[in-house]
Amino acid sequence: MEFVRKGLANGTVVIPANMRRKLTSPCAIGKGLRTKVNANIGTSAETGSKETELAKLKAAVDSGADAVMDLSTGGDIAGVRKAIVANCQVPLGTVPIYQAAVQAMETRGSIVDMTVDDLFDAIQEHLEDGVDFITVHCGVTQSAISRLRGQPRVTDVVSRGGSFLIGWMLHRNRENPLYEYYDRLLELAWKYDATLSLGDGMRPGSLADASDRAQFQELITLGELVQRARAAGVQVMVEGPGHVPLDQIGANVKMEKTLCDGAPFYVLGPLVTDIGAGYDHITGAIGGAVAAAAGADFLCYVTPSEHLSLPIVEDVKEGVIASRIAAHAADIVKGVGGAIDWDRKMSAARKNLDWENQIGLSLDPEKARRMHNRHHTTGTACSMCGPYCAMEIMAKYLGTTSAKC
Ligand code: SF4
Repeated sequence: MEFVRKGLANGTVVIPANMRRKLTSPCAIGKGLRTKVNANIGTSAETGSKETELAKLKAAVDSGADAVMDLSTGGDIAGVRKAIVANCQVPLGTVPIYQAAVQAMETRGSIVDMTVDDLFDAIQEHLEDGVDFITVHCGVTQSAISRLRGQPRVTDVVSRGGSFLIGWMLHRNRENPLYEYYDRLLELAWKYDATLSLGDGMRPGSLADASDRAQFQELITLGELVQRARAAGVQVMVEGPGHVPLDQIGANVKMEKTLCDGAPFYVLGPLVTDIGAGYDHITGAIGGAVAAAAGADFLCYVTPSEHLSLPIVEDVKEGVIASRIAAHAADIVKGVGGAIDWDRKMSAARKNLDWENQIGLSLDPEKARRMHNRHHTTGTACSMCGPYCAMEIMAKYLGTTSAKC
């Protein structure tokens, strides 16, 4: 616990927990700790309801998500959030600009008609409801936009919050209010002891756009804002890409840790190829494992429906488990206590053909059991090799006894 206290003091660890509520399953995120996994849920303007999102919340937490974000942009946004807060015992994050922008669209006809007070009122409302961490795209500045224009991209800006802000800033020819009035934001976060998650509005949405000038301009700004948050006594973490080729992921993590003075790094994927539609939980898990092994602290899951549709409950489960595999694979090489022991126990159970232990040690026991039982077998071995089971042959001729953990 001492190193967690030290991490909290020097800003390399955060514990998102709004003082308005008591979490039964809080978590610390950052240096030296197990890599954590976040699951995004929430309605869209096209589909989703309080009931569907509560079902996704349950699926996420049951599958082992350490945190959840409600990204609702449709229906009764405030009502869905309040229901999720009431039922969520892990840290909950939101992106308040979604609500402010949607309300501006509904009441005034356009996102660019959102006022600065609309935005800060939404932030206050979310924090008052008990939200533990908020994504705020403070680093989307006019300077980052000019770099975006100076080095054109294939997919421009894919961050929803980033695109809202950029549209607003260009239409009004003004600076980002989250940057201009950052002290106002810090006061609110401090009041509720909420954690700021500095969003990456300029994150690359395709491999071709990765690691460009706009992305790193934003990261430089975020590094400065991390410093100001710490000076104000506000917990802060930094969000990162996005779509990134495998060989650039380590450098991206290093850049964040250096520019942001070791602030916890919360990565969205990263997706290592653009062509995985329908399987982007896998492209995201590959990138997540590499990022976390390089030092990223918090993985935002990606579901099989990424780029295609709003996730359903089954997608949420698949996404969380894929991200947990990535996080665990990284924890083994990070030397996180107990990580490799889990694998050793599973291997011993395999050697012993101990199916109950194998199923119990798996990340998805229900699926593991269903798959093991789907073909009838005549012996102890599984239906893959049956009487030609290598484990049984070796035990017999090598004379090895049961493996011990
Ligand atoms: S039958 Fe084959 S796959 Fe199944 S436990 Fe034995 S060696 Fe492994």
